[in-house]
Amino acid sequence: MQRLDIAIAGCGPAGLATALLLHRDGHRVTLFERFDAPRPVGSGLMIQPTGFAVLKQLGLADALLDRGARVDRLHGEAGSSRRVVLDVRYRTLGRSAGFGIGIHRATLFGLLHDAAIAETINVETGCPVTGSEPSSGGRRRLLLENGRRIGPFDLIVDALGTRTPLAPRCGRELAYGALWSALDWPAGGELDQTALEQRYRRASVMVGVLPIGRLPSSTRKQAAFFWSLRADRFDSWRSAGLDAWKADVLELWPATWPLLAQIVSPDQLTFARYAHRTLRSPAEAGMLHIGDAWHSASPQLGQGANMALLDAYALALALRVARDVPSALAHAVAMRRRHVTLYKGLTALFTPVYQSDSRLLPIVRDRLVGPLSKLWPATKIQAAMVSGLVGNPLGPLNL
Ligand SMILES: Cc1cc2nc3c(=O)[nH]c(=O)nc-3n(C[C@H](O)[C@H](O)[C@H](O)COP(=O)(O)OP(=O)(O)OC[C@H]3O[C@@H](n4cnc5c(N)ncnc54)[C@H](O)[C@@H]3O)c2cc1C
Repeated sequence: MQRLDIAIAGCGPAGLATALLLHRDGHRVTLFERFDAPRPVGSGLMIQPTGFAVLKQLGLADALLDRGARVDRLHGEAGSSRRVVLDVRYRTLGRSAGFGIGIHRATLFGLLHDAAIAETINVETGCPVTGSEPSSGGRRRLLLENGRRIGPFDLIVDALGTRTPLAPRCGRELAYGALWSALDWPAGGELDQTALEQRYRRASVMVGVLPIGRLPSSTRKQAAFFWSLRADRFDSWRSAGLDAWKADVLELWPATWPLLAQIVSPDQLTFARYAHRTLRSPAEAGMLHIGDAWHSASPQLGQGANMALLDAYALALALRVARDVPSALAHAVAMRRRHVTLYKGLTALFTPVYQSDSRLLPIVRDRLVGPLSKLWPATKIQAAMVSGLVGNPLGPLNL
């Protein structure tokens, strides 16, 4: 394929990874971001073996391992009886299958953004994108908030996340979301530095701790702390005060006290509401929607950023082998669609088990699914599911 003019909207993991891959393939790439200084939103996330394979191709594996926290297992206990209902170990899949890496969003963002700047990729900041319009020859223009029209471009990559203005609205917001905070990892204590740990009360209450390594400019290890909450209960959570909430958390999981001690204001916690949405047709004339702009889901299985990285890689691969832009976009979507559909289904299936008002689902989880999941081959299936490897997403991408 000849050298293309490509606009990438959004400086999240999808946009930045796409920019690096396409720039390295010789295309003229410009990133557009609404923030004046690009910055990540939120606290921490898990890179799975799928996302790691893409970051390795980008030459960022060593830095990721250095800054992130290796996660070997996921562990969840329910109720005061501390019944183990989640016990997933990556090593069940064999040594070569890898492990999870907990990472602060700012660290992941910094790694990708620094690489983009070092490679002199053009990043246009302070540019809120409002839409796009077709131009002649299958090309497309980008529309910005101040009425500016940019382009035309041979290709626009929509990496604007779940509320993208470049795609029609679809899907639904979930009743539940979570409060998140990045805190210092407590010295000593009972928390496991190699595990994502969660505690549940029924399906409506979940508290979790994920090790997320170090911030770019710091040597201190951090933890992402989260507490599930219904969106319509946010105001009453705030007005009840921190002390009442802390007492509730401590009753469920006493070992979190050194983390709770660091929270002195509700503003240290950010509420993230989840949505389930997937575009049926992520490719249109001169434009591809990738990452959360194509598909977004509750982070129950921790796949969103990883899937965004896989989408970016699929697009780069397709542009290398296709004759023209439309066939490249069709090929990119074909390489990703099965995996996206599978994880959409799995996330829809599992989210209510951990975040809903259901009385029945947590009983089934605690009494039946939990015990069964400790037996082979359930152990292996769960590890593959958490790793993002169900449906062999790496195969079509030669990763
Ligand atoms: C609380 C929480 C926990 C999560 N945990 C995990 C996890 O453990 N593992 C995992 O893989 N995923 C996790 N996810 C999901 C993950 O964060 C997303 O799937 C991932 O960030 C998607 O990347 P993206 O680049 O597609 O979009 P985003 O990260 O949303 O990036 C979009 C970018 O576009 C910019 N932008 C948006 N609108 C405009 C506009 N109009 N004009 C210009 N710029 C704009 C934004 O500022 C941002 O820079 C979690 C999500 C949440 C909310």
